[in-house]
Amino acid sequence: MARRSVFLHWVKAHVGYLGNELADESAKEATKLGNVGCAWKKPRSRISKDLRDVTLEMWQTRWTSSTKGRLTAKFMPDVQLTTRLYCPTITQVLTGHGRFPAYFNRFGLAANALCQCGEIGDVWHYLSSCPTTEFMRRQLRTNDISDFRALISDPHNMYWIQQISRHVNDITPTIPQ
Ligand SMILES: [Zn+2]
Repeated sequence: MARRSVFLHWVKAHVGYLGNELADESAKEATKLGNVGCAWKKPRSRISKDLRDVTLEMWQTRWTSSTKGRLTAKFMPDVQLTTRLYCPTITQVLTGHGRFPAYFNRFGLAANALCQCGEIGDVWHYLSSCPTTEFMRRQLRTNDISDFRALISDPHNMYWIQQISRHVNDITPTIPQ
């Protein structure tokens, strides 16, 4: 470390030194204010956090009010910056974009939207009432099957949702090429 020299000088107060007089004047003026205003520059980390918060808030508003991805929004109503990775069979359930008769029918790839049990074959059907998924559905730990967010918060349920998805893959006819 470089050596530095420090010199101390005594300065007699109230004798006309310009800097000292200005400081005294400013101090007197400050006592007349109701409060002390300080404009501190925000540190980079704070600016970064503020920008992140604003961005998340805008993203959340768009996600909540969007008309797209509403099934996924039931599973994941809150946006977040951490990445969540799921295997393809789970992703099919979370998005509804999978081998579901209702999905195929929506794109004209199946003559109807019906499950082999006769009901509309969408994600809700297989998670809530299809007799062909009953055994797997009974393994799900939930008090309310319509609470999709709570449903996927339990890792135990993710295993059984994956089994349901695989089952649907097995029973849904392949699209003719
Ligand atoms: Zn069914």
